[in-house]
Amino acid sequence: MTANIIDGKAFAGTVREKVAAHVARLKEENNITPGLAVVLVGEDPASQVYVRSKGKQTVETGMKSVEHKLDVDTSEADLLALIDQLNNDETIHGILVQLPLPKHLNEDLVINSISPAKDVDGFHISNVGLLGTGQKSMVPCTPLGCLMMLRDYHGSLSGLNAVVIGRSNIVGKPMAQLLLGDSCTVTIAHSRTKDLEEVVRRADIVVAAVGRPEMVPGSWIGKGATVIDVGINRIEKEDGKMKLVGDVDFASVSEVAGAITPVPGGVGPMTIACLLANTLTACCRANGLQEPEGLTA
Ligand code: NDP
Repeated sequence: MTANIIDGKAFAGTVREKVAAHVARLKEENNITPGLAVVLVGEDPASQVYVRSKGKQTVETGMKSVEHKLDVDTSEADLLALIDQLNNDETIHGILVQLPLPKHLNEDLVINSISPAKDVDGFHISNVGLLGTGQKSMVPCTPLGCLMMLRDYHGSLSGLNAVVIGRSNIVGKPMAQLLLGDSCTVTIAHSRTKDLEEVVRRADIVVAAVGRPEMVPGSWIGKGATVIDVGINRIEKEDGKMKLVGDVDFASVSEVAGAITPVPGGVGPMTIACLLANTLTACCRANGLQEPEGLTA
């Protein structure tokens, strides 16, 4: 069996088109332009690449993009003052503080100082609580992107056995909540899980968010299961070249699975597309307007 490829890159393109079309209507009919502010503290190269890409795609969908690049030694008070200013700026509907922050800054304090309505990353404790209780919230972008791809591929997810490997606050836990919200039977596995292989083999849906290159082999996957690979790992191959791989072994897993997201070109592009979708959703909510269809949980 050769798995169907769930093309996250192409799917992200359709999400961006939907966002752009809705943004154009908002401008024409309501004279409103959604705005996203991204705050970067320090000069972490990977974060700089992400921030640049987010800004570019925000502008391409017709939204306003503002970048605040702060020195690595910016004080917590100065960062909180900037967030306060953005919270009160009516032209800004989404605020994203790029993580990780330098060690001297308290990440929880910073994230929880963002207005929950503008928290397009969905990391604020209020949004975590709203998602956990099945209420309308801002949903973290990576799990939202995974959910969109799963819904698109399966239609209804109701009654399916889903195993999420990883229990981080930004991927594993919200992913599990979203799958539960769509009536999956959900198991969350982690580093202490016994017989992980057996647990994974029972799944109709496997979401791997571990951060260990190619950890999940095909022999763990039930025949025909859908595999969403969240992992982004940079490894050196035998020829000395660097390569991006996921948390599942694509070659062996795609022999058994019914469908699989590739790395790169799977979950990654969907994450940024969902950031744009969340910014639009936040803007619509802030203005009491109808939310875009199919772009929220
Ligand atoms: P974390 O390091 O925060 O969490 C990893 C999780 O994996 C933990 O819950 C850990 O368990 C679990 N784990 C570690 N080793 C094992 C093991 N041997 N068996 C089972 N579970 C294990 O990572 P993130 O959730 O932030 O990210 C996970 C991956 O997803 C990374 O590769 C990251 O780069 C990628 N990522 C990709 C994104 C995208 O846009 N595509 C966005 C965000 C992340 P425990 O809690 O017990 O330690």
